[in-house]
Amino acid sequence: MKLIEKLDDQTREDIRTISDILSQSSYQCYMVGGCVRDLLLGRPVKDIDITTNAEPQVVQKLFKRTVPTGIQHGTITVLFEKRSYEITTYRAEGTYSDARRPDTITFAKTLSEDLSRRDFTINALAYDPTADVLQDEHGGLDDLKQKIIRTIGKAHDRFFEDGLRTVRACRFASVLDFRIEEETFKAICDPAIHERTKKVAVERFSDELRKGLSGPFPSRLIELLEDTGLMNLFLPYKAPRPELQKLSLLSNVENRLGCYLHFICMREKDPVASIESTAKKLKLSNETAAQAIRTHRFLLASAGDLNDVEEQIDQRRFCAWLKKTSADPLSILDDSSELASIQSSLQTLIPVWKTMIQNDPLVAKDLALNGNDIQELGFSGKEIGTAQASALEYLYRWPGRNTREDLTQFLLGKRSSSS
Ligand code: ATP
Ligand code: MG
Repeated sequence: MKLIEKLDDQTREDIRTISDILSQSSYQCYMVGGCVRDLLLGRPVKDIDITTNAEPQVVQKLFKRTVPTGIQHGTITVLFEKRSYEITTYRAEGTYSDARRPDTITFAKTLSEDLSRRDFTINALAYDPTADVLQDEHGGLDDLKQKIIRTIGKAHDRFFEDGLRTVRACRFASVLDFRIEEETFKAICDPAIHERTKKVAVERFSDELRKGLSGPFPSRLIELLEDTGLMNLFLPYKAPRPELQKLSLLSNVENRLGCYLHFICMREKDPVASIESTAKKLKLSNETAAQAIRTHRFLLASAGDLNDVEEQIDQRRFCAWLKKTSADPLSILDDSSELASIQSSLQTLIPVWKTMIQNDPLVAKDLALNGNDIQELGFSGKEIGTAQASALEYLYRWPGRNTREDLTQFLLGKRSSSS
């Protein structure tokens, strides 16, 4: 079967159109990189990258609808209705003095030059969709068959050029379930290379972390990053290995990230503060950080035994936090039901929490006495808030006592004992 036939009908037609338009003007056209690799592996193809010797301005002229998405790097996006394809001019990269981006980008004349600047052999396969010919100049096909991640050229040099490639190697090894070739692995572990990886913008590290965690072997990514010393360049924690296996039970990548942060921070003195600072360090969004803290609290709160009265009080405190911090705590509980796959006690606890949130007095506005009522009992200023807090603590133990009489008696008793 021809490789192009593995694409769905619409995509195949689009690629043929792109190839025809370029070749009618005597330009070359190859599918390249991740899409060729994934087609050969029989994996779903995310996006199709095309490479050509036509310069960006030419690509803009040849196609009706284009967007100059990365024109300074030679990339033009071509649109067909809602479908888009990135067409990038052959590139030859200059030196990298900052370990992040090449100092200069020059366009190359040949496909060979473009392929040799790429990171791994399996990412340097190019496919001519019209001639149905695969260009494999670096042994990528063999490495695909043997499931090997290997740099093109000397590993040490290639990682020194761009410090992100070390992390990418671990990401591809985990997502594809490949092993990293020996020289390549040695270079990844080299402290001199670590100095280069350290300079990479943390957002790019986090992007790779996220991509790797969304693959089928998330725990392997963490293990590889830890074993090579790469994780330590960004985060000072070590994950508990047996727990890590649970990550793959979660399907949502946000939950996986949150769970990973929970695993590495749960033994810290102040786990919530550690999760917050780790999320900041990784420049994760506020939403991702908030989700991680929720995941942490869910897992922590679900560790208790519900038959124990003290535990029930803790559960109510947890539900109070959920109610205070979330617009709709019940919908968050529904979203979190995926976490029940990694901690089975959550299965029984989520309905209990829902009932508590719906029925029990948990936050100040649930109290049978409002602020004015409490003032009339003789409390003023800051004392009112303190009185509300102690009334709530009292009700976490005795939720049935949320009546005006009970609370009045309780608060007057508190007043006389404190004065
Ligand atoms: P996926 O899209 O599944 O994450 P991919 O292989 O398409 O995988 P991208 O990050 O989209 O990865 O990059 C596209 C291609 O560009 C790669 O296949 C590789 O050939 C090249 N490439 C990307 N990043 C680098 C890099 N840091 N150094 C060298 N080549 C790179
Ligand atoms: Mg890609």
